[in-house]
Amino acid sequence: MTRKLPNISDSKRIVIKIGSALLVDKKSGQIRRGWLETLAEDIARLRARGQEVVVVSSGAIAVGRRHLKLSSGRLRLEESQAAAATGMVRLAHAYQEVLARHELTLAQVLITLDDSENRRRYINARNTLDTLLRLGAVPLINENDTVATDEIRFGDNDRLAARVAAMISADMLVILSHMDGLYDRDPTADSDAVHVPLIEGEISAEIEAMAGSGKSADGTGGMITKLAAAKIALGAGTRMAIANGTQDHAIGRIEQGARCTWFLPTANPKTARKQWIAGSLKPNGALVVDAGALGALKSGKSLLPAGVTAIKGRFDRGDAITIHSPEGIEIGRGIVAYSAEDARKIIGNKTSEIESILGYRGRDEMIHRDDLALSWVKQ
Ligand code: GLU
Repeated sequence: MTRKLPNISDSKRIVIKIGSALLVDKKSGQIRRGWLETLAEDIARLRARGQEVVVVSSGAIAVGRRHLKLSSGRLRLEESQAAAATGMVRLAHAYQEVLARHELTLAQVLITLDDSENRRRYINARNTLDTLLRLGAVPLINENDTVATDEIRFGDNDRLAARVAAMISADMLVILSHMDGLYDRDPTADSDAVHVPLIEGEISAEIEAMAGSGKSADGTGGMITKLAAAKIALGAGTRMAIANGTQDHAIGRIEQGARCTWFLPTANPKTARKQWIAGSLKPNGALVVDAGALGALKSGKSLLPAGVTAIKGRFDRGDAITIHSPEGIEIGRGIVAYSAEDARKIIGNKTSEIESILGYRGRDEMIHRDDLALSWVKQ
């Protein structure tokens, strides 16, 4: 039995990935302004419905290389970094202009691979994006190509978009490219190729084989990086679509049922995140709570510094730690908002006292309820 296909309108937090070839005219190197305006109209419609939208856009290098009059051939790393530096300004400016017409504010966020892997930077990036969304802005994300060298970069925005979606627990990721989804073999080489509308649960070896080496001519992605993105999205409980975005109102077309490939996870982002905290992260330390905090945790609240009686081990902000009852029994795990050193200073104190003790205003909670996986909650 197949599940009903999802739709963009039933999502709360959506990440939209835009490939270079959609945004930048190949011949002139100019931003396809008319197309971008229709994207802004679509985004404004989503926002008006109360949906949160994050845009992950490629195209900085494609735009910038022309302005720096770089050759049309393959660029050296430092040339593409220079191109990205100038192109990103133009890209962000264009997005800002088209969104401003709808009274939407753009916020540029440049991310490196490290920001999604290093626990402390991950938690910072997550909090910043959360705050921007809460304040009603539309974050525009790209890889920080100017500083990311080959060994430390994603290189493609498909996986970057999936990591971002996982990082902010987005419930939908839409990857717009020149392809309307996955086919059972390369459709450009074989006209009998059959479109795959839905993939559920996981990416099998058989599905992986379908991607072949499907490279896109302009961006760095292709079907392989899109499937890699799908794996990340499925693991994070994020639904994902690969859709053709070449025409105007690409998002509106998907809403009206345009052909695409949907990837449906078995868990939702919240459950997937808790499973990840409970099962995949190696704890670097521990803390003990008092009876009052135990009760608060049981009723679904966050863990405040006031309810913590002891800190064990050495950990950094953003690390996973285990949580113990007053009797010393492990009751769950969580991602901690303070380093062990700072946590030791603030335990037993009121949240309002954190700033005067530490000299900076950190998070109100020691572990936020979204960052907790408790043993009595079935994941
Ligand atoms: N970050 C690159 C750019 O903005 C694009 C990476 C990709 O093609 O996915 O030009």
